[in-house]
Amino acid sequence: MTEATETTDRLEQIIAKLRERDFRITPQRIAILKIFLGSVEHPSVEQVYRQVKPDFPTTSLATVYKTVNLLKEVGEILEIGFADGGNRYDGNKPYPHPHLICTRCKTIVDPQIELIEQNRLRPRGQLRL
Ligand SMILES: [Zn+2]
Repeated sequence: MTEATETTDRLEQIIAKLRERDFRITPQRIAILKIFLGSVEHPSVEQVYRQVKPDFPTTSLATVYKTVNLLKEVGEILEIGFADGGNRYDGNKPYPHPHLICTRCKTIVDPQIELIEQNRLRPRGQLRL
């Protein structure tokens, strides 16, 4: 099975789950879901909002927040909280996993554990588990 097929299957499963919770499925909400599920960059709500806005100008920030909250409820997104309140989200891997976070620019990546164990990758930020 290709990765693209897996993503589509997952999207359909999640849409079914959200429908059960009376979430109205609109093209803009599907676009928001796709960005969260397909992103490995751990975007913030604002970043996703800015990505959706050009294609769906009527999208509101509240719609993106609502989508995130529902995804949290059904366990399909991981919230990564910062002390300054700027939450970031991982909809690609919705289960706890280590993150490398740059303390300066706040870039978040999913590290390749093998590389860290072999000491080839030397993170400058802190490693959070
Ligand atoms: Zn992650």
